[in-house]
Amino acid sequence: MSDLRPDTRAVHVPRPPIEGSRPISVPIYQTSGFSFDDPAVMAESMGRPDAAFVYARYSNPTVRSLELAVAGLEGGEHAIATGSGMGAINVVLLGLLKPGDHMVAQRSLYGGTAAMINDLVSRFGIGVTYVPENDPAALRAAVRPETRLVYLETISNPMTLVADLPAMCAAARDLGIVSVVDNTFATPVLCRPLEHGADIVLHSTTKYLAGHTDVLGGLAVFAGRELYDRLWHFAIELGASADPFAAWLTVRGLATLVLRMERHCSNARHLATRLAEHPAVTAVHWPGLPGHPSYEVAGKLLSGFGGVFSFDLAGGRAAGERFMSSVRLALLAPSLGGVETLVLHPASTSHRALGPEELRRSGIGEGTVRVAAGIEHPEDLWADVSQALT
Ligand SMILES: *Cc1c(COP(=O)(O)O)cnc(C)c1O
Repeated sequence: MSDLRPDTRAVHVPRPPIEGSRPISVPIYQTSGFSFDDPAVMAESMGRPDAAFVYARYSNPTVRSLELAVAGLEGGEHAIATGSGMGAINVVLLGLLKPGDHMVAQRSLYGGTAAMINDLVSRFGIGVTYVPENDPAALRAAVRPETRLVYLETISNPMTLVADLPAMCAAARDLGIVSVVDNTFATPVLCRPLEHGADIVLHSTTKYLAGHTDVLGGLAVFAGRELYDRLWHFAIELGASADPFAAWLTVRGLATLVLRMERHCSNARHLATRLAEHPAVTAVHWPGLPGHPSYEVAGKLLSGFGGVFSFDLAGGRAAGERFMSSVRLALLAPSLGGVETLVLHPASTSHRALGPEELRRSGIGEGTVRVAAGIEHPEDLWADVSQALT
């Protein structure tokens, strides 16, 4: 190699082997591809998820580290990381459904998921029936011979309804259909849907798993090998792959997930219980409060009630908008799951596409405010929220 010219030397730089020690943090493998010594190993790598790394759309060691970490936290065997939560949702919906198929979904769904399902119905000839998140009889009644999957969310947005996962997943299993659960709001710290019979768990890792409002990502975790193999091939075709740097930031965030969830949940409890006693507030929607429609299910299913809640202001839309412009510490922003407390007025933002009738059916009022509690000091948060109410 010593006779190489500078042009060539500048391309083929030395890579000292790491011997006798190893890096403590997960390295970022910022490479789109991998080279091989053995052509047979290379050929083998194209067809199986557990073969050698070959091309970053298939997988990458940093991305695999994230996949294994979250699969382990959820009690699953395998996972596919994607570039966003919607990427993971689409790997599963588009990978499992074909024209003529039918799915059952719970009524209150994340906005992006609801929009995607509307597209599947109008452009891809897929049928959907909506049922309450806690009604296995309605699920059984909705299922047809061509039903392929049931789609649930552990905790819904912004009314924080908790799906009765054991009952719903058992019904799906009896009927031979795949159950898919978006566990973004609960995280595996509060609930592990695979333990309650789900086949696939979805995450927007953008939220609590990464936790610092600095990266977009998604993930699908599988209880078993068969669905994983099928959807791994489809994910490669779809091209929704995770980027190594994004995966690295997410792995870094995971280290503090349990600690952060404790504070998100205790801050939500602090604010929700005080707001429930405030004269300007007519209702607080957080599953840890007695009287919430999911209080009992949540008590059985969740080991904490989550960091997101919403509340209704007596003064309607004007009061909602006034609150939004009066907070000083909490930030006006969509999304959730980061260290900062965020507030949102659903009727004018995340749920503005809903008509008055749909809004009413989903329980969202003109004066409803959603709060995603961060990890700040609870008294600083209460001081901000209470001054914004006066
Ligand atoms: C944010 C979110 C998604 C979509 O995730 P992205 O990372 O924004 O694509 C899906 N489901 C839920 C419950 C979410 O909160």
